[in-house]
Parts: sequence; C-alpha cells; structure tokens
Amino acid sequence: MHLFYPHVCKGCGSDVIEDENLLCLQCINNLPYTNFSVHANNPVEKIFWGRLPLTAAMSEFYFAKGTVIQRLVHEFKYKGNKDVGMYLGAMMGSSLISNNRFKKIDALIPLPLYADKEHKRGFNQANILCEGIAEMMNIPVIKGNVIRKRFTQTQTKKHRQERWQNVEGSFKVDNIAQLKDKHLLLVDDVITTGATLEACGKEILIIDNVKLSVATLAYAFK
Ligand SMILES: [Zn+2]
Repeated sequence: MHLFYPHVCKGCGSDVIEDENLLCLQCINNLPYTNFSVHANNPVEKIFWGRLPLTAAMSEFYFAKGTVIQRLVHEFKYKGNKDVGMYLGAMMGSSLISNNRFKKIDALIPLPLYADKEHKRGFNQANILCEGIAEMMNIPVIKGNVIRKRFTQTQTKKHRQERWQNVEGSFKVDNIAQLKDKHLLLVDDVITTGATLEACGKEILIIDNVKLSVATLAYAFK
C-alpha cells in the first residue's frame, strides 16, 4: 500500500501514524487550537460586535504562516485535496458538538463562492468543511440555497465606495421556508475582516425567527 499511497504525517513526514489519520499524534497535539468554541466574547465574536447579531462564533485554529495549518489549508484549497478538508472539518465538528453554545445547531450553511470561482476550483472549500462537520454533528448541510452573484455591468461602473457597499447585496436566499425557525451555522475556511461573512449573514438574518452562528476553520489575526 505504501508504494501507492505513502502514508506519512502531513505535518512532519513521520511514518508513525495511525491508519485513517493525516497527522501523527505529536502534530495533532501541536496544532494552534484557539479554544474559542467554549468561550463567549472570543476574538471572532468581537469581529462581529455592532455588525451582525450572532448567537455564537468560533474558529478552530489560529492561522499563521509556516504552521502545519497553513500547509494543510494550502493542500486543501489550492491542490484540491478534499480528504484534508474533510479531516479539518471533522476536527471543527468535534469541538462544536462538545459544547453547549453550538450543540443546538439545526443545519450548516457553507459560505457560497461565486459560481465561476467554484467552477474554476472545482469545489467550494466551505462545502467540504461542512461535510466533515456534518459527519461529527449529524446535522444536514444546506447547499445551493444561499447564493452569491457577480455585480452586473452597470454596478461595476460605480465608483469604489459604492461598489464596496454593494457586497451586501451580492448574497441571496433562494428558499426562505427551508431556513425559517432554524439555528444555522455559517461556515467558511479563514476569517480575516469578516466582511464577506457579515454580508452573507445579514441576508440570512432577514428571515423570520432565524438564529445565526459562525464557524471558521482558522482565524487570521492581525
Ligand atoms: Zn507529524
């Protein structure tokens, strides 16, 4: 088997690794966990204060250059290794399910990509993370309901400031009834300013009696 699928740790290259795992125990222990899932008022929640009324928010890892997490995200997003994405999603899921703040989530919403970008990449990385999370939490992933649209020709002619404000209008909920009365978890890979999640979240929170939380794989602090 090793000849065809060299089974070594994706973090350090060690071959002391259990089947079905992508990292050795030492690399798993050394990952830059945030522990945000258990803490209210954590830095990711603070990003949205005064911007978006979330129930809770978290990131599983700190995103820093040269770390194992950066390498894994690269392999997942840009080399298209979906197994890595599923694995990281499952890690998020096990954090989410083990604490009360996220226990009562009804469904997962992957942050949508523009259709042409998803087509070019071949997948939406948030979809894959959601699949990994869903496996641990045993809840559905709702894909294709919240959609993201490119600006029209006339919109792109507007000057920059207006165009930036228009980001808010670039998300649409297709089937409101499917999301109504639910606690939804909006999922993305890396959070920096939170502007895109905010724009998408605003559109979701228009729906009656919806609660919204946010989970990202990693938090890129400045
Ligand atoms: Zn390792």
